[in-house]
Amino acid sequence: MTETYDVVVIGGGIHGAGIAQAAAARGFSVMVLEQTAIASGTSSRSSKLIHGGLRYLESRQFSLVRECLLERTLLLELAPQLIELKPFYIPVYRDTTRRPWLLRAGLSLYAVLGGLHPAMRFRRVPQNQWKKLDGLNTAHLEAVFQYNDAQTDDAALTRAVMRSAQRMGAQLKMPATFTGARLGGEFNTIEYRHEGEIETCKAAVLVNAAGPWVREVLERIIPVPSQLKIELVQGTHVVVPGTLAQGIYYVEAKDRRVVFVMPWKGNILVGTTESIYQGDPADVRPLPHEIAYLMETLAHYFPHYRSGQSILGATAGLRVLPSNEGGIGEGAISINARLRDTILHFDRQSHPRLLTVYGGKLTTYRLTAERVMAHLAGILPARGVVADTRHLKLTETD
Ligand SMILES: Cc1cc2nc3c(=O)[nH]c(=O)nc-3n(C[C@H](O)[C@H](O)[C@H](O)COP(=O)(O)OP(=O)(O)OC[C@H]3O[C@@H](n4cnc5c(N)ncnc54)[C@H](O)[C@@H]3O)c2cc1C
Repeated sequence: MTETYDVVVIGGGIHGAGIAQAAAARGFSVMVLEQTAIASGTSSRSSKLIHGGLRYLESRQFSLVRECLLERTLLLELAPQLIELKPFYIPVYRDTTRRPWLLRAGLSLYAVLGGLHPAMRFRRVPQNQWKKLDGLNTAHLEAVFQYNDAQTDDAALTRAVMRSAQRMGAQLKMPATFTGARLGGEFNTIEYRHEGEIETCKAAVLVNAAGPWVREVLERIIPVPSQLKIELVQGTHVVVPGTLAQGIYYVEAKDRRVVFVMPWKGNILVGTTESIYQGDPADVRPLPHEIAYLMETLAHYFPHYRSGQSILGATAGLRVLPSNEGGIGEGAISINARLRDTILHFDRQSHPRLLTVYGGKLTTYRLTAERVMAHLAGILPARGVVADTRHLKLTETD
């Protein structure tokens, strides 16, 4: 018998899991199709920060920063085992382009956007404490600022959100690859490959949360939906042996980009890079020049890593960003400054039962999922609300 759901979600990344949780909380029947494993895509290859994004102030994305900081406060309450507030250090050297006055102004604005919550306090670290900063290079160091932001285990967080959805009745088919859908009438007919067989189900609404595979999914839908112009931007992280006792370092690479140097599972995680990626999202790999760039940045700020430092591993993930070539792009702005907002795309006239998630952030997954559900409320039948995602605790294990 063909199963029928209110919502079928393609993708078991943070967005797919979040949408499944929000749908189940509103009492809808929901199934997630995931082709590999939960968080096997971008959601395990991020910088693992639940943050407002201090650097997005430079591109004036104030409402995004505010939204992220409010979500950070909520998620710290909901997932204390998975999300931890950490001290972040920003060193300013003689040749650092972001000068102390600019950082002070940026951190003040960041604190205001974070509602002046006690966790938003920042300070200038006195010079007599610099030697405690994990071997940070002090040559020509002029100032160090310290503020707070949060770190998580992105894959564990995604699994926790999926488990929360499943506890409220969400179904997960995995590994199950979406192969096609025919839209029209009251229900979409959806096909997927599961255990070597093509299976079919029906859903009132189909949600495309396939992350960097967003276009491949749209191409398998009949009638063919419109697409937004996007680019995939590769970001690499390296893991090196070592420890950082004090917290996370926010440093400026030689091209002015921000690079984070973070403690990670007993080692150090350094990232990230940004370069346009063309090709199959499944084939993304760290590139030698990205690894060299990150290692050079690490060695510049932490000179004890200078001589032939080995690496334990490297990962590359793909951001989905609005294209620079017209469309929803903003002309000639750099990748670094490009809009990081999540875009929910739907066509009320031609494809009312399809919604596509483009881009976004780990930090705002819950808000994005709630927005998706608010949009779908007008299309789906009325159901009894089961829970409110603002109160659902997220735990590492059941
Ligand atoms: C380098 C980097 C660093 C980042 N750092 C941060 C950060 O520190 N903080 C932050 O808030 N955000 C960060 N982000 C953004 C954040 O990681 C992403 O927005 C988020 O993880 C995207 O999740 P997603 O669910 O949309 O996509 P994904 O996690 O990629 O999930 C999509 C899923 O869809 C599945 N799928 C695809 N096609 C099919 C199909 N046909 N059938 C079935 N399943 C399919 C894939 O297997 C995959 O699991 C970062 C992003 C990058 C690239």
